[in-house]
Amino acid sequence: PTIALVTDCLFCRIVAGDIPATVVRETDTTLAFRDIAPKAAVHVLVVTKEHFVDIAALAQADPELTGQLMETAAIVAETEGLLADGFRTIFNTGVYGGQEVDHVHAHVLGGEPLGPMVC
Ligand code: 5GP
Ligand code: ZN
Repeated sequence: PTIALVTDCLFCRIVAGDIPATVVRETDTTLAFRDIAPKAAVHVLVVTKEHFVDIAALAQADPELTGQLMETAAIVAETEGLLADGFRTIFNTGVYGGQEVDHVHAHVLGGEPLGPMVC
């Protein structure tokens, strides 16, 4: 399938390899890489390779791909050793949600007690 490249989108550029990132898992449709400014001992971002603005747009446009994104998040949680003690998965959405990068991404946070829900 054709992968849309939005050239002024930071995460599209990471998917394209134009901007380096520490990749922890890659599938045909998803990419997981470490957050550049981690807010927990483990902080991984999971994106779809195809550009969608946010989780609301993705989930309505492509439920199967949404499932693939969540599968990658779960496998990352497992390979990062987060399953036993637990972890947090967050989708910030829009202005009130504090979303800074307008390309859908799950935050996978863990490796230490996380306290109140923030990201
Ligand atoms: P948001 O606020 O949109 O939910 O989260 C965006 C996340 O992207 C932030 O946690 C931020 O630290 C991370 N981020 C911003 N720029 C880069 C970058 O160039 N590389 C990586 N790996 N993460 C980034
Ligand atoms: Zn994008």
